[in-house]
Amino acid sequence: MSDTDDSTDADGSTQMPSVIVAGGGPAGLSAALFTAKNGLETTVFDTDETWMHKAHLFNYLGIGSVGGSEFMATARQQVDDFGVDRRQDEPVTAVSESGDGFIVETDEGEYEADYVVLATGANRELADDLGCEFTDTDVVDVDVDMETSVDGVYATGAMVRPEEWQAAIAVGDGAAAALNILSSIKGEYYHDFDVPADAERVFGDLVAE
Ligand SMILES: Cc1cc2nc3c(=O)[nH]c(=O)nc-3n(C[C@H](O)[C@H](O)[C@H](O)COP(=O)(O)OP(=O)(O)OC[C@H]3O[C@@H](n4cnc5c(N)ncnc54)[C@H](O)[C@@H]3O)c2cc1C
Repeated sequence: MSDTDDSTDADGSTQMPSVIVAGGGPAGLSAALFTAKNGLETTVFDTDETWMHKAHLFNYLGIGSVGGSEFMATARQQVDDFGVDRRQDEPVTAVSESGDGFIVETDEGEYEADYVVLATGANRELADDLGCEFTDTDVVDVDVDMETSVDGVYATGAMVRPEEWQAAIAVGDGAAAALNILSSIKGEYYHDFDVPADAERVFGDLVAE
């Protein structure tokens, strides 16, 4: 169930706000899942150096045991299914403010975005270059909504925590950033709630009891 309103241009065409996510680990893909699922144009750039390739999860609530790479394969399929433009092996080299939005640079070109989610793991260079404030423990300074000191720029996952590095926390950070973006567009608190009838509509008799 999505409750984002379209923004309509002067010529009558509709254009949804755009989100660029730098980093496609658990934090970045979680943010992308929520924004794409709820109608925002979403692009993820990733270099596939996620720590998840070294991990095996026994501590992700709701999943008994899963390999980190297997978890990532499922997560990538899930965001692809929601229409995320996932650009694998295309590193973000710079992010800068431009008017009301941002320009994201890679070796392939420049991309415009209304919102940026930084999710580059323990690498905090992009946040530093953008002028985001850091805490006295040298991580990117965010509140529970994950927004940095730069309006419209969010930071998530390992880059905002000195050592509390867990997949479940990174996924929660990404979801919080995305919901905050959706709320800021809507102008009131946004809820991404689905109910059993939504699943039945999509999957019919295949829905598990
Ligand atoms: C050995 C090991 C075992 C672990 N075991 C567990 C465990 O059992 N349970 C658990 O919950 N957690 C575990 N973790 C921690 C877990 O892997 C991390 O908490 C999680 O991966 C952090 O997610 P993230 O999205 O913040 O960062 P990451 O997973 O590191 O993802 C960041 C992504 O950003 C990409 N990136 C970086 N810079 C750029 C750029 N400029 N442009 C584009 N992309 C970029 C990277 O390539 C990477 O894919 C383990 C970690 C390690 C190292």
